[in-house]
Amino acid sequence: MVPGARPRCAAMGIMETENTEAAGSAELALRSFDELGLSEVVMQAVVDAGYTTPTPIQSEAIPLVLKGRDVMGLAQTGTGKTAAFTLPIIDRLLDGPRRTRALVLTPTRELCVQVEENVRRYASHTSLSVVCVYGGVPLDPQQKKLRAGADIVVATPGRLIDHLERQNVVFDDLEVLVLDEADRMLDMGFAPQINRVVSDIPSYRQTLLFSATMPPEVEALARKYLRKPVVVQVGRRSSAASTVTHAVYPVPRERKSALLASLLRESALDSVLVFTRTKHGADRVVRHLEREGINSTAMHADKTQPQRTRALQDFKNGKVRVLVATDIAQRGLDISGITHVVNYDVPQQAEDYVHRIGRTGRAANEGDAFTFMAPDEIAMVRQIERVIGQPIPRISVPGFDFGTVAAD
Ligand code: AMP
Repeated sequence: MVPGARPRCAAMGIMETENTEAAGSAELALRSFDELGLSEVVMQAVVDAGYTTPTPIQSEAIPLVLKGRDVMGLAQTGTGKTAAFTLPIIDRLLDGPRRTRALVLTPTRELCVQVEENVRRYASHTSLSVVCVYGGVPLDPQQKKLRAGADIVVATPGRLIDHLERQNVVFDDLEVLVLDEADRMLDMGFAPQINRVVSDIPSYRQTLLFSATMPPEVEALARKYLRKPVVVQVGRRSSAASTVTHAVYPVPRERKSALLASLLRESALDSVLVFTRTKHGADRVVRHLEREGINSTAMHADKTQPQRTRALQDFKNGKVRVLVATDIAQRGLDISGITHVVNYDVPQQAEDYVHRIGRTGRAANEGDAFTFMAPDEIAMVRQIERVIGQPIPRISVPGFDFGTVAAD
């Protein structure tokens, strides 16, 4: 057991580090990257990235992963969780045979590409190779890359099975398995695919599981695949990223697009991610904003993969100011520099609110999360407030607030 750790989830056979002693302690706050035990070549990449201090999840998880422990990280995107597992994995793979020795499973193509980019960046001073495989694009190029050999494979579960069945990749020498955004993978119905993939992996592996939330299904997955894991929890379960400033705008449904256009015209909303409930909703908002002369683009499941990649690229490099997305963009997307998230529709699940606003307030940058609340969404907002454990301030915009607009 880790020094200072106390068993908490005894029923699950899980050891949990005391969050209050760990993440919140002065000792940890002062920890530097030098103390985490990473090798020189990995540290060079950390310096290149411009990171000066490890984030709490990195301080806790990196030494444990280096020790070979199974780790269950309760952390949402924006906490630095990707580096928390990729840095020590790269470290671990520096010595030893050139075989596929690490696999990261991710729920979406976007996250898959993002994790691959991270691995590439952090492994830039090493000769380790990484291949990323996801669905919706031709198999052949991925097959070629896999057959050429990769130390680290990042994959979405369905497409990975296609490759396993074609024997484009074998996991006989796999040492580390990462289940990234496990809750999201289960939400998307990937449990059977995960089982299938894990059945090809030696059981003496190291397994790391990251999840923003801990519903019973994720606990069950952890019980099944992790051995005596240390649970590393950043912040309170379901707590919203603390640098995010929240606000709720009461507004009748039919006035939402006008309110959005008005906020975009009048305030310093530089790079805005807008979430709508439906694909049509997303397209409608984009049409409205375009009519108002505001540059925006939509991203949802009806768009082809090239269109989605393009939309994301244009948004990332600042060509478009507003990205309007359905839930496919909800988790795991690391778009640095987002200044605002707008919940055009109130998320149906309170937990989703936490994930969505995880897009902003990333790694301690200031960010704002605005939620447009129609009269029939008041109950859902109350539910969210209960889950995040704090009331969200209401902002009344004259001419829009249904509480102040005379009914006609
Ligand atoms: P993640 O939670 O892995 O999606 O990371 C969120 C963002 O934080 C990414 O843009 C990282 O580049 C950045 N980041 C990760 N670790 C650090 C660190 N120690 N210091 C500053 N930024 C970091």
